[in-house]
Amino acid sequence: MADVKNPISHAMSYGLEAHKIAEEYIRDGKAIPKTHHYMKAMLDKLRSLDGEKLCEQKLGLTEDLQPCSFSAKNVWWRGIADLLILQNDVARIVDYKTGKSAYADTKQLELLALAVFKHYPEVQKVKSALLFTVHNDFIPAEYERAKEEELWVKWRQEADRLAASVTNNVWNPTKNFTCRKWCPVTDCPHNGRGA
Ligand code: SF4
Repeated sequence: MADVKNPISHAMSYGLEAHKIAEEYIRDGKAIPKTHHYMKAMLDKLRSLDGEKLCEQKLGLTEDLQPCSFSAKNVWWRGIADLLILQNDVARIVDYKTGKSAYADTKQLELLALAVFKHYPEVQKVKSALLFTVHNDFIPAEYERAKEEELWVKWRQEADRLAASVTNNVWNPTKNFTCRKWCPVTDCPHNGRGA
């Protein structure tokens, strides 16, 4: 399979812009441009919540799952929470989406929640959500510290699978919902748009 570059599409740059606007409104109260005013009601609800609000919060973990900075030399996993709200033993994570909720995937929320448990020992529960700003939808997911070890088993297995691919340089394509519509690898047999 040839190396493929994925140019920034209009949808991607729109998403980046919306994230920036949300960050600056929640953190600084900077006015939302008219083009994105449809986001204001949702963002106002988030702004009105109690707790410490951290925008674009970068989190890192070492391989033995210790909390570390995003840019630490020994960082093994990295993630960015679009919005993290700390409310004592509860944390809220919000991930803004400008695409369609039909493709909602909460896996990234689970990983961010697991990282929050490592970084904030007082947090016992994470209430998280994918917030579809354009389509006005909200997909929630909750995680309990009591289930932390159980959840890590799955992610450790996934990491081992990736490590084996790196070691053997074997990358078997796995059919998924992004194949036909978004993937630029047109010579993959699962793509369906190539020759
Ligand atoms: S078409 Fe699907 S399986 Fe193939 S590289 Fe793209 S995302 Fe992966």
